[in-house]
Amino acid sequence: MSRTSSAASIAFWRDRPLSDLTKKEWESLCDGCGLCCLHKLDYTQDGGGIVYTEVACRLLDVESCRCMQYKERRHYVPDCISLTPKGLASIVWLPKSCAYRRLSEGKDLPRWHPLLTGDADSVHRAKISIRGRAIPEAKAGNLSDHEVDWPEI
Ligand code: SF4
Ligand code: SF4
Repeated sequence: MSRTSSAASIAFWRDRPLSDLTKKEWESLCDGCGLCCLHKLDYTQDGGGIVYTEVACRLLDVESCRCMQYKERRHYVPDCISLTPKGLASIVWLPKSCAYRRLSEGKDLPRWHPLLTGDADSVHRAKISIRGRAIPEAKAGNLSDHEVDWPEI
């Protein structure tokens, strides 16, 4: 097999629509940034839109940027959203950097994405993730005191 065809078969997200991916492929598209697990405030009724805070969901490990109870998360955080190919269009707050959003908009993965670099830390080195800039929910107090102008949505 040539290097070109090998690379093409690995880049499954370019070959097939999101709805045709296996569960494992779908999950692997998450870059591990943790951005979507930050609390958000919804000012849409006042015309203000969605505003992110620097406050992490109680299940988010702010160092690893991963959910500490991913499989059972809905038990602890019932309003945690499960991303699906069908549901992507209705979620207006996914960061512009999010792989699911990018692919649903017809873009490719960014060059720092772990699927392209082969290194789970590349999302942190690129300073895309929440590492070093999020605070745990238990220490936060009032969410409105922690509004941030990142991530870009
Ligand atoms: S924003 Fe997207 S890529 Fe980042 S953790 Fe959430 S689902 Fe994964
Ligand atoms: S429950 Fe887990 S996946 Fe859901 S928002 Fe919280 S940390 Fe993220």
